[in-house]
Amino acid sequence: MEPLEKLSAVAHDPFAYAQAIQPALEKPVIGYFCSYTPEEMLTAAGAVPFRIFGTRGDISLADAHLQSYCCSLVRGGLEDVLKGRLSFLKGAVFPHTCDSIQRLSDIWRLNAGLDTHFDLVLPVKLTTQSARTYMISVLNTFRAELEQGLNVSISDEALHQAIYTHNCIRDRLGRIYRLKSQNPGKLAAADMYAIMKAAMVMDRAELLEHLDALWADLSAGASEGASTGRKRILMSGGICNHPDIYHFIEEAGGDVVWDDLCTGTRYFEGSVEETGDPVEAIADRYLDRMVCPAKHMGVTARGEHLKQLVRTHRIDGVIFLFLKFCDPHGFDYPYLKECMDQAGVPTLLLEVEEQLPGEGQFRTRFETFIDML
Ligand code: SF4
Ligand code: SF4
Repeated sequence: MEPLEKLSAVAHDPFAYAQAIQPALEKPVIGYFCSYTPEEMLTAAGAVPFRIFGTRGDISLADAHLQSYCCSLVRGGLEDVLKGRLSFLKGAVFPHTCDSIQRLSDIWRLNAGLDTHFDLVLPVKLTTQSARTYMISVLNTFRAELEQGLNVSISDEALHQAIYTHNCIRDRLGRIYRLKSQNPGKLAAADMYAIMKAAMVMDRAELLEHLDALWADLSAGASEGASTGRKRILMSGGICNHPDIYHFIEEAGGDVVWDDLCTGTRYFEGSVEETGDPVEAIADRYLDRMVCPAKHMGVTARGEHLKQLVRTHRIDGVIFLFLKFCDPHGFDYPYLKECMDQAGVPTLLLEVEEQLPGEGQFRTRFETFIDML
C-alpha cells in the first residue's frame, strides 16, 4: 500500500487499526484527548498513544453521565468507551485542561472499566519559573505512575529514544505542512487531515516509516500541482474531525493551507531538546509552544501568534472552527476575531458537533465567505 493510502486507511478507521496492531505488537494502547499529553513518555513506556476523537454515532449512554451541553468530543469519547468500542485500550490519560476534560476524567475512572487511568494536573499559567518547576514535578509523577500502571521501567535512555522518534515525526509533519502552504496543489487538505489523524493513533515507529516514505514521494517533482488559484484559508480552533469540511472549502474555491488547531499544527509545533534531563526537556516544549485557550501565556499571545501565521502564510481568510459548548475556544473567539478585524482579515465562525448539519447549509456558507475574499 502507498504511504498516503495507508495513512488514509488508518484515519478512516482508527479503531480497526488499533485492534489489529495490539496483538501483533504486544504493546498496550493508551487513549488520550488532548495535546498536553506527553506522548514521549507513553512511547518510552512501550505503549501506543491513541488520540480519542469522539464518536460519529448517536450518543445515548453518555447522556446518563454528562449534560447535553458538554462538547461532543467529551460526550462522544465517553459514549465510545461505554459502548465497548475502545475495549482495546489499556487505559487513558487526562491532562487537566478544560473543565469538561477534568470532569470526564472522574466519570471515566468510575465507568470505563479499563485497567489504568492517569491524571496530569498541569499548571495553567505557563510563563513563570514556578510553573516550570511544577510542570517538571507533575511529569515526574506521571512517569512513576506509568511505570506502576504498565508494570515497566522507563529509563532516561528510553525517554531520549522516544524524544528522538517524536521529534522526527514533528519534523516530517512540519515539512508536509510547509509544502502544502508553499505548493497547495500538491496535497488535498483532506489528505493533510488524514495524515494528522493517523499520526495521532498509529504506532509511532511504524508511523515514522510511512511519513518518511510519503515525504520521499512528495519531495520528488516539487513543482507538480504548484497553484490551485484558490483562496488561502487558515483554520483556527480546537479539534477538527470532519474531512468533509475540507472538501466543501475546496469546492467553494478555498484551500486550507495552514491551521492553528489542536489536531493540526499545535500537535507538532516545537521540538524537545535531545540532550540533558529528558523530563525537563519535555516540560520546556510545553512551556515554549503556543498555548491553547485552556492555558495562559499572556493576554495577547494567541492573537499575535494568529496575526503572525496570517502574514507568514499569506492568508486570505480565517475560518474559526470549534465544537459547540467548547468554553475555552468560545471565550477566546471574540478577542481573536477583533485581532483579525483590526488586521483586515475576513473571518467565518463555524461551531460544529460530531454530526455535521446539512451539507447544503455548509456549502452555502463557505461559498458566500470565499466569494467575498
Ligand atoms: S483546546 Fe487545549 S485543552 Fe482542549 S483539546 Fe486542545 S489542547 Fe487540549
Ligand atoms: S477544550 Fe473544548 S473541545 Fe476540547 S474537550 Fe474542552 S470543551 Fe471539549
